[in-house]
Amino acid sequence: MSIQEQYKKRVRELLSSGAVKMVIGYQAGTTADRRRPLFIRTPEEAEKLVLDSACIANLSGYLVTEGLLSDEKSVGIFLRPDGIRSINILAAEAQLNPEQVVILGFDGNDKEVTALQGEKARDFSAIIASIKEHAPEAPRNPQLEQIEKMSPKERFAFWQAEFSRCIKCYACRQACPMCYCRRCIVDSNQPQWVNTSSHTLGNLEWNVVRAFHLSGRCVGCGNCDRACPVNIPLRLINAKMAGEVLGAFDHFAGMSETQEPVLASFKKDDSETFIL
Ligand code: SF4
Ligand code: SF4
Repeated sequence: MSIQEQYKKRVRELLSSGAVKMVIGYQAGTTADRRRPLFIRTPEEAEKLVLDSACIANLSGYLVTEGLLSDEKSVGIFLRPDGIRSINILAAEAQLNPEQVVILGFDGNDKEVTALQGEKARDFSAIIASIKEHAPEAPRNPQLEQIEKMSPKERFAFWQAEFSRCIKCYACRQACPMCYCRRCIVDSNQPQWVNTSSHTLGNLEWNVVRAFHLSGRCVGCGNCDRACPVNIPLRLINAKMAGEVLGAFDHFAGMSETQEPVLASFKKDDSETFIL
Protein backbone atom coordinates (compact mmCIF):
# COMPACT_ATOMS: atom_id res chain seq x y z
CA MET A 1 0.00 0.00 0.00
CA SER A 2 1.45 3.43 -0.92
CA ILE A 3 2.18 5.95 1.83
CA GLN A 4 -0.71 8.05 0.48
CA GLU A 5 -3.17 5.15 0.86
CA GLN A 6 -1.80 4.26 4.32
CA TYR A 7 -2.34 7.81 5.47
CA LYS A 8 -5.83 8.04 3.93
CA LYS A 9 -6.72 4.99 6.03
CA ARG A 10 -5.21 6.59 9.16
CA VAL A 11 -7.13 9.84 8.52
CA ARG A 12 -10.42 7.91 8.17
CA GLU A 13 -9.68 6.07 11.46
CA LEU A 14 -8.85 9.29 13.32
CA LEU A 15 -12.03 11.02 12.14
CA SER A 16 -14.43 8.11 12.55
CA SER A 17 -13.18 7.35 16.08
CA GLY A 18 -13.54 11.03 17.04
CA ALA A 19 -9.85 11.23 17.99
CA VAL A 20 -9.63 14.41 15.92
CA LYS A 21 -12.25 16.82 14.63
CA MET A 22 -10.29 17.74 11.51
CA VAL A 23 -7.16 16.79 9.61
CA ILE A 24 -5.16 19.40 7.73
CA GLY A 25 -3.40 17.94 4.70
CA TYR A 26 -2.82 18.50 1.00
CA GLN A 27 -4.90 18.16 -2.14
CA ALA A 28 -4.21 18.64 -5.84
CA GLY A 29 -3.40 22.22 -6.81
CA THR A 30 -4.01 24.30 -9.87
CA THR A 31 -1.07 22.75 -11.75
CA ALA A 32 0.37 19.22 -11.68
CA ASP A 33 3.32 20.24 -9.49
CA ARG A 34 1.34 22.26 -6.95
CA ARG A 35 -0.56 21.22 -3.84
CA ARG A 36 -2.96 23.24 -1.75
CA PRO A 37 -4.25 22.82 1.80
CA LEU A 38 -7.10 20.40 2.44
CA PHE A 39 -9.25 20.58 5.57
CA ILE A 40 -10.73 17.11 6.08
CA ARG A 41 -13.75 16.96 8.38
CA THR A 42 -15.37 13.64 7.40
CA PRO A 43 -13.89 10.19 6.66
CA GLU A 44 -15.23 10.46 3.07
CA GLU A 45 -13.28 13.68 2.43
CA ALA A 46 -10.03 11.75 3.06
CA GLU A 47 -10.32 10.50 -0.52
CA LYS A 48 -9.16 13.94 -1.77
CA LEU A 49 -5.89 13.66 0.17
CA VAL A 50 -2.66 13.84 -1.84
CA LEU A 51 0.69 13.01 -0.25
CA ASP A 52 3.75 13.16 -2.48
CA SER A 53 7.00 15.05 -2.99
CA ALA A 54 5.14 18.18 -4.14
CA CYS A 55 3.68 18.58 -0.61
CA ILE A 56 6.21 21.11 0.61
CA ALA A 57 4.26 23.89 2.34
CA ASN A 58 4.54 23.99 6.13
CA LEU A 59 0.86 23.79 7.21
CA SER A 60 1.42 24.39 10.93
CA GLY A 61 0.32 28.03 10.77
CA TYR A 62 -3.29 26.92 10.25
CA LEU A 63 -3.35 25.51 13.78
CA VAL A 64 -3.22 29.00 15.29
CA THR A 65 -6.29 30.15 13.37
CA GLU A 66 -8.37 32.02 15.96
CA GLY A 67 -10.64 29.63 17.88
CA LEU A 68 -9.59 26.42 16.10
CA LEU A 69 -8.21 24.72 19.21
CA SER A 70 -10.26 26.60 21.81
CA ASP A 71 -12.81 23.75 22.19
CA GLU A 72 -9.95 21.52 23.41
CA LYS A 73 -10.60 19.00 20.63
CA SER A 74 -7.66 17.64 18.68
CA VAL A 75 -6.65 18.34 15.10
CA GLY A 76 -4.51 16.09 12.88
CA ILE A 77 -1.97 17.66 10.57
CA PHE A 78 0.50 16.51 7.92
CA LEU A 79 3.97 17.84 8.67
CA ARG A 80 7.55 17.43 7.53
CA PRO A 81 10.30 17.84 10.19
CA ASP A 82 10.36 21.64 9.71
CA GLY A 83 6.63 21.74 10.47
CA ILE A 84 7.13 19.56 13.56
CA ARG A 85 9.77 22.04 14.76
CA SER A 86 7.18 24.80 14.26
CA ILE A 87 4.76 22.93 16.55
CA ASN A 88 7.44 22.88 19.26
CA ILE A 89 8.00 26.63 18.88
CA LEU A 90 4.27 27.41 18.93
CA ALA A 91 3.91 25.24 22.07
CA ALA A 92 6.96 26.83 23.74
CA GLU A 93 5.50 30.29 22.97
CA ALA A 94 2.13 29.21 24.48
CA GLN A 95 0.25 29.50 21.17
CA LEU A 96 -1.12 25.96 21.25
CA ASN A 97 -1.39 22.89 23.45
CA PRO A 98 0.73 20.19 21.78
CA GLU A 99 -1.55 17.52 23.30
CA GLN A 100 -4.26 18.69 20.84
CA VAL A 101 -2.05 18.15 17.81
CA VAL A 102 -1.90 14.72 16.15
CA ILE A 103 1.02 14.72 13.72
CA LEU A 104 0.96 12.71 10.53
CA GLY A 105 4.67 12.99 9.83
CA PHE A 106 6.44 12.50 6.54
CA ASP A 107 9.70 13.41 4.89
CA GLY A 108 11.54 12.81 1.64
CA ASN A 109 13.04 14.44 -1.39
CA ASP A 110 11.78 15.70 -4.73
CA LYS A 111 11.11 12.12 -5.90
CA GLU A 112 9.39 10.31 -3.04
CA VAL A 113 8.18 10.69 0.52
CA THR A 114 8.28 8.31 3.47
CA ALA A 115 6.24 8.18 6.66
CA LEU A 116 7.74 9.25 9.99
CA GLN A 117 6.74 7.23 13.02
CA GLY A 118 5.03 9.01 15.93
CA GLU A 119 2.06 11.31 16.49
CA LYS A 120 3.11 13.84 19.16
CA ALA A 121 5.83 16.40 18.52
CA ARG A 122 7.99 14.84 21.24
CA ASP A 123 7.96 11.48 19.38
CA PHE A 124 10.13 13.09 16.72
CA SER A 125 12.78 14.53 19.06
CA ALA A 126 15.47 12.07 17.87
CA ILE A 127 14.86 13.09 14.24
CA ILE A 128 15.09 16.79 15.13
CA ALA A 129 18.25 16.20 17.22
CA SER A 130 19.85 14.47 14.25
CA ILE A 131 18.94 17.40 11.93
CA LYS A 132 20.55 19.79 14.43
CA GLU A 133 23.66 17.62 14.66
CA HIS A 134 24.10 17.65 10.90
CA ALA A 135 23.10 21.31 10.43
CA PRO A 136 26.68 22.68 10.31
CA GLU A 137 27.69 20.30 7.50
CA ALA A 138 24.33 20.33 5.68
CA PRO A 139 24.63 21.36 2.00
CA ARG A 140 24.81 25.14 1.99
CA ASN A 141 22.94 27.25 -0.50
CA PRO A 142 25.55 28.37 -3.10
CA GLN A 143 23.90 31.81 -3.28
CA LEU A 144 24.33 32.24 0.49
CA GLU A 145 28.00 31.31 0.20
CA GLN A 146 28.44 33.90 -2.53
CA ILE A 147 26.80 36.56 -0.37
CA GLU A 148 29.05 35.63 2.57
CA LYS A 149 32.13 36.22 0.41
CA MET A 150 31.04 39.81 -0.32
CA SER A 151 32.43 42.79 1.57
CA PRO A 152 29.96 44.41 4.02
CA LYS A 153 29.43 47.24 1.51
CA GLU A 154 28.68 44.83 -1.33
CA ARG A 155 26.40 42.77 0.90
CA PHE A 156 24.47 45.84 1.98
CA ALA A 157 24.08 46.87 -1.68
CA PHE A 158 22.90 43.32 -2.56
CA TRP A 159 20.16 43.26 0.09
CA GLN A 160 19.17 46.85 -0.53
CA ALA A 161 18.65 46.01 -4.22
CA GLU A 162 16.67 42.87 -3.36
CA PHE A 163 14.49 44.63 -0.79
CA SER A 164 13.91 47.60 -3.08
CA ARG A 165 11.64 45.27 -5.12
CA CYS A 166 9.43 44.57 -2.07
CA ILE A 167 5.86 45.77 -2.58
CA LYS A 168 4.92 45.45 1.13
CA CYS A 169 2.21 42.92 0.39
CA TYR A 170 3.12 41.03 3.63
CA ALA A 171 2.54 37.65 1.96
CA CYS A 172 5.79 36.46 3.60
CA ARG A 173 4.39 37.28 7.01
CA GLN A 174 0.98 35.73 6.30
CA ALA A 175 2.60 32.50 5.07
CA CYS A 176 5.00 32.18 8.02
CA PRO A 177 3.83 29.91 10.85
CA MET A 178 5.94 31.90 13.29
CA CYS A 179 4.13 35.18 12.46
CA TYR A 180 0.94 34.54 14.39
CA CYS A 181 0.18 37.95 15.97
CA ARG A 182 -3.43 38.95 15.29
CA ARG A 183 -2.22 42.50 14.76
CA CYS A 184 1.31 42.99 13.50
CA ILE A 185 3.18 46.08 14.65
CA VAL A 186 3.77 47.04 11.02
CA ASP A 187 0.00 47.41 10.50
CA SER A 188 -0.25 49.90 13.36
CA ASN A 189 -0.66 53.49 12.19
CA GLN A 190 -1.12 55.26 15.54
CA PRO A 191 1.80 55.44 16.09
CA GLN A 192 3.21 54.17 12.83
CA TRP A 193 6.39 52.23 13.66
CA VAL A 194 7.21 51.04 10.15
CA ASN A 195 6.21 52.99 7.05
CA THR A 196 3.63 51.04 5.07
CA SER A 197 4.45 52.48 1.67
CA SER A 198 6.93 50.74 -0.55
CA HIS A 199 10.21 52.64 -0.81
CA THR A 200 13.86 51.67 -0.48
CA LEU A 201 14.49 52.76 3.11
CA GLY A 202 11.17 51.52 4.52
CA ASN A 203 11.51 48.21 2.69
CA LEU A 204 14.95 47.62 4.20
CA GLU A 205 13.57 48.47 7.62
CA TRP A 206 10.63 46.05 7.27
CA ASN A 207 12.70 43.14 6.00
CA VAL A 208 15.50 43.57 8.54
CA VAL A 209 12.99 43.90 11.41
CA ARG A 210 11.30 40.70 10.23
CA ALA A 211 14.63 38.83 9.94
CA PHE A 212 15.52 39.79 13.53
CA HIS A 213 12.06 38.82 14.71
CA LEU A 214 12.58 35.37 13.17
CA SER A 215 16.11 34.83 14.47
CA GLY A 216 16.17 31.71 16.60
CA ARG A 217 12.58 30.97 15.53
CA CYS A 218 12.77 30.31 11.79
CA VAL A 219 12.62 26.62 10.86
CA GLY A 220 13.67 27.16 7.24
CA CYS A 221 10.44 25.84 5.73
CA GLY A 222 10.56 28.34 2.86
CA ASN A 223 6.88 29.32 3.06
CA CYS A 224 7.98 32.97 2.98
CA ASP A 225 10.06 33.01 -0.17
CA ARG A 226 7.60 30.77 -2.02
CA ALA A 227 4.89 33.32 -1.15
CA CYS A 228 6.89 36.39 -2.21
CA PRO A 229 5.46 37.63 -5.53
CA VAL A 230 8.71 39.39 -6.47
CA ASN A 231 10.99 36.45 -5.61
CA ILE A 232 13.11 38.06 -2.91
CA PRO A 233 15.30 35.21 -1.54
CA LEU A 234 13.98 35.61 2.01
CA ARG A 235 15.03 32.14 3.09
CA LEU A 236 18.68 33.12 2.62
CA ILE A 237 18.61 35.89 5.19
CA ASN A 238 16.68 33.69 7.63
CA ALA A 239 19.08 30.77 7.04
CA LYS A 240 22.02 33.10 7.75
CA MET A 241 20.42 34.23 11.01
CA ALA A 242 19.69 30.61 12.00
CA GLY A 243 23.37 29.71 11.39
CA GLU A 244 24.54 32.67 13.50
CA VAL A 245 22.20 31.73 16.36
CA LEU A 246 23.33 28.10 16.22
CA GLY A 247 27.00 29.10 16.27
CA ALA A 248 26.70 31.77 18.98
CA PHE A 249 24.16 30.15 21.31
CA ASP A 250 23.99 26.48 20.24
CA HIS A 251 20.29 27.18 19.69
CA PHE A 252 18.41 25.22 17.01
CA ALA A 253 14.81 26.41 16.71
CA GLY A 254 12.06 23.94 17.57
CA MET A 255 14.04 21.29 19.46
CA SER A 256 11.33 20.77 22.08
CA GLU A 257 8.00 22.14 23.29
CA THR A 258 9.73 23.71 26.31
CA GLN A 259 12.74 25.25 24.55
CA GLU A 260 13.31 28.84 25.69
CA PRO A 261 13.29 31.47 22.91
CA VAL A 262 16.90 32.48 22.29
CA LEU A 263 16.28 36.24 22.27
CA ALA A 264 14.00 36.15 25.31
CA SER A 265 16.20 34.24 27.74
CA PHE A 266 19.54 34.75 29.46
CA LYS A 267 21.86 32.98 31.87
CA LYS A 268 22.38 34.64 35.22
CA ASP A 269 26.01 33.55 35.25
CA ASP A 270 26.74 34.99 31.80
CA SER A 271 30.12 36.69 32.05
CA GLU A 272 29.14 39.45 29.63
CA THR A 273 29.15 42.85 31.30
CA PHE A 274 25.87 43.98 29.72
CA ILE A 275 24.00 41.73 32.17
CA LEU A 276 23.68 43.58 35.44
S1 SF4 B 1 10.71 32.92 8.08
FE1 SF4 B 1 10.16 31.76 6.21
S2 SF4 B 1 11.43 29.89 6.32
FE2 SF4 B 1 11.39 30.80 8.39
S3 SF4 B 1 9.67 29.81 9.47
FE3 SF4 B 1 8.86 31.69 8.54
S4 SF4 B 1 8.07 31.05 6.54
FE4 SF4 B 1 9.40 29.38 7.26
S1 SF4 C 1 6.24 38.77 0.31
FE1 SF4 C 1 7.96 39.79 -0.73
S2 SF4 C 1 7.05 41.64 -1.60
FE2 SF4 C 1 5.59 40.89 -0.08
S3 SF4 C 1 6.17 42.00 1.84
FE3 SF4 C 1 7.27 40.04 1.85
S4 SF4 C 1 9.27 40.54 0.95
FE4 SF4 C 1 7.88 42.21 0.38
